[in-house]
Amino acid sequence: MAAQSTPATRMQVPLLDLKAQYSRLREQIIPRVVDVLDSQFLVNGPAVRELEAQVAAASGCVEGVGTSSGTDALLLALMAMGIGQGDEVITTPYTFFATAGSIWRVGARPVFVDIDPVTFNLDASAVEAAVTDRTRAIMPVHLFGQMADMNTIMDVARRRDLKVIEDAAQAITAEFQGQRAGAMGTAGCFSFYPSKNLAGAGDGGMVVTQDADLAEHMRTLRNHGDSGQPRYFHREVGGNFRLDTLQAVYLQVKLGHLGEWNAARRENAALYDRLLADVDEVVVPAILDGNVSTFNQYVIRVPRRDELQAFLGEQGVGSAVYYPLGLHQQECFQELGYAAGDFPETERATRESLALPIFPELTEEQIGYVAEQIKAFFDRSS
Ligand SMILES: *Cc1c(COP(=O)(O)O)cnc(C)c1O
Repeated sequence: MAAQSTPATRMQVPLLDLKAQYSRLREQIIPRVVDVLDSQFLVNGPAVRELEAQVAAASGCVEGVGTSSGTDALLLALMAMGIGQGDEVITTPYTFFATAGSIWRVGARPVFVDIDPVTFNLDASAVEAAVTDRTRAIMPVHLFGQMADMNTIMDVARRRDLKVIEDAAQAITAEFQGQRAGAMGTAGCFSFYPSKNLAGAGDGGMVVTQDADLAEHMRTLRNHGDSGQPRYFHREVGGNFRLDTLQAVYLQVKLGHLGEWNAARRENAALYDRLLADVDEVVVPAILDGNVSTFNQYVIRVPRRDELQAFLGEQGVGSAVYYPLGLHQQECFQELGYAAGDFPETERATRESLALPIFPELTEEQIGYVAEQIKAFFDRSS
């Protein structure tokens, strides 16, 4: 084993550093939060409606409906479209649990289609073969910040009369051929969970849509089906899926910086791409022509992923596996009848993918250090 590329200084590079972002905005955030507390307008305060309009505009959409989480945004969209028992929704098994969990929770059946190994997104060319007479919707996920092939998906949806719910939890303001995440589907769902690009002070989410009637229906359903005309009369059963006023003001401050943060993530990604180009074992993320990724995650493919992850941890570098098990193999979905081997590209991705630190405040030195450690790992073992 040759003694090579031993870095001079050991660094700490966390996967995510939320304090770096917060400390720079603290002076702007605190007075807004205090204003809300002083007003005691804690639910449905004016900032909620303002944020809805701002996020809708930033997404090229007509309406935004704030929700208590990204998961509840998905649930609310499904409920408002009347999707439930006996219905099927086509989606990817390589995603965060909430995607299929929300479909299951409304009583519908998640029907999985494997991913495109280049982008990790739903293989749009395989969607139509999965359509049956029970299919009501397609739920593509814009994984890691790159939008799925929305042209193909929308084409199938139009011809087969299906709704499209974009799970854009990781992709707020991402672009596909000039269109923003959430703008092409029937509805698009965002998450403001603290690890997302537009990070709240806890849980929050939003549904955006071009359909004003759908938005109105969602506003009623997020408030137990109470349209307020008059109050306490319910034509249908909804839930409590509201976004807090405190979250809205916090997010308003952050929204003003989202563009610059996403640009910084893309610059960080470009630097990793250059530094890792000569490491044969590493496949860097592919962003297809016409796509602008928000790089919620920078996910590489490598052999001996678990060993590399352990090595990086020893060197002070945080990383994560998104995701270690395809949803078709989750215990809670056993009755769907899927088995190991059904989605080979998903299963390969669960073994090979590793997310590296990509948050906007990373320094070039930190990115250089991470790349150096990855090189050292493969040099050492080759
Ligand atoms: C984060 C996430 C969600 C759920 O959002 P929450 O706000 O955590 O409920 C849904 N889908 C995907 C792909 C996500 O990354």
